[in-house]
Amino acid sequence: MSHVHNFSAGPCILPQEVLEEASQAVKSWDNHGLSLVEMSHRSKAFVAAMEECRALTKELLELPDRFEILYLQGGASLAFLTAAMNFLPEGGQAAYADTGTWSAKAIKEAKHAGRVNVLTSSKDDKYNHIPEVADVDGDNAYLHITTNNTIFGTQYAHMPQTTAPLVADMSSDMMSRRFDPEPFALIYGGVQKNMGPAGAVMYAVDRARLGQTGRSIPSYLDLEVQLGKDSMFNTPPVFSVYTTLLTLRWLKALGGVEAIQARNEAKSGLLYGEIDRNPLFEGHAQIGSRSHMNATFRLVDDSHAATFDDAWNKANINGLKGHRSVGGYRASMYNALPLESVQVLVDVMKEFERTHG
Ligand SMILES: *Cc1c(COP(=O)(O)O)cnc(C)c1O
Repeated sequence: MSHVHNFSAGPCILPQEVLEEASQAVKSWDNHGLSLVEMSHRSKAFVAAMEECRALTKELLELPDRFEILYLQGGASLAFLTAAMNFLPEGGQAAYADTGTWSAKAIKEAKHAGRVNVLTSSKDDKYNHIPEVADVDGDNAYLHITTNNTIFGTQYAHMPQTTAPLVADMSSDMMSRRFDPEPFALIYGGVQKNMGPAGAVMYAVDRARLGQTGRSIPSYLDLEVQLGKDSMFNTPPVFSVYTTLLTLRWLKALGGVEAIQARNEAKSGLLYGEIDRNPLFEGHAQIGSRSHMNATFRLVDDSHAATFDDAWNKANINGLKGHRSVGGYRASMYNALPLESVQVLVDVMKEFERTHG
């Protein structure tokens, strides 16, 4: 089979060596004589893997001690509700920035827990930019942001400066760039965008801020309960957690988040350079809001779509079709995507200009 250049938005590309080690562990895990997926999650070996995964997450994100890490189920979609249940006080309100489909879903779920104050929205502009957020006053328990908008290809260049603590969905840019954790109370993200196979969602939570909502929280959604059980309140998604651990080891070995950020910026720089240079293409996101992870673009003349689609398919490129709500194309350039794959796409775009320009 020839090499596929995988630009899929999620689940997404993972390092080849991680996939090899994970598949070996499914057959027979190290010297335990059993498959990873047929062993007790309370076995010494798996508990050690979970603990290493939690510790490595904290280390790679350079989080201060006040943060604790959980790997749970339900994806980011359940975290929308969990975040509000744990941080929105009974009778209180929280501020939300509406920057895309996932933000809108976070807002919808938070309404199950209390009043939601949508401070700003770029919906009327097809979510093509990250709107400014004014300071958030003390009536709001937190400001919720979606740091990278996977579908529309926008990303916060800088985190908003507010006095309210930040709660963030980082599903699609987790571990892709450094950030200052200081303003955050909670960070969460489904692992399947940049860290591992689907099944687990990561929470990094400031433990001291829990338990202040005055509400009764169902056990699974109560982050204090989950922390009290060291992320083992119930059976964790063992394969997803273990493979995430392997990806984090891979990331650490290549120099951590700072090193991958430089690679990611080289990849996005290469592609955006071509989108801006090539007269046959135009970007969707405004330049100051462009995502390093998901680049959205389209053909200026859509009548060429069938031939362009044929060209990138022939180059063994996968997953380039844009989300149905935006149309056009979306190139997702997660951590494990090599620069060479971006070069292949850029070469296809250049050749397309030569034949159709
Ligand atoms: C994919 C995605 C989600 C949804 O994640 P699930 O784990 O499938 O619930 C939420 N937010 C963002 C930013 C995403 O990219």
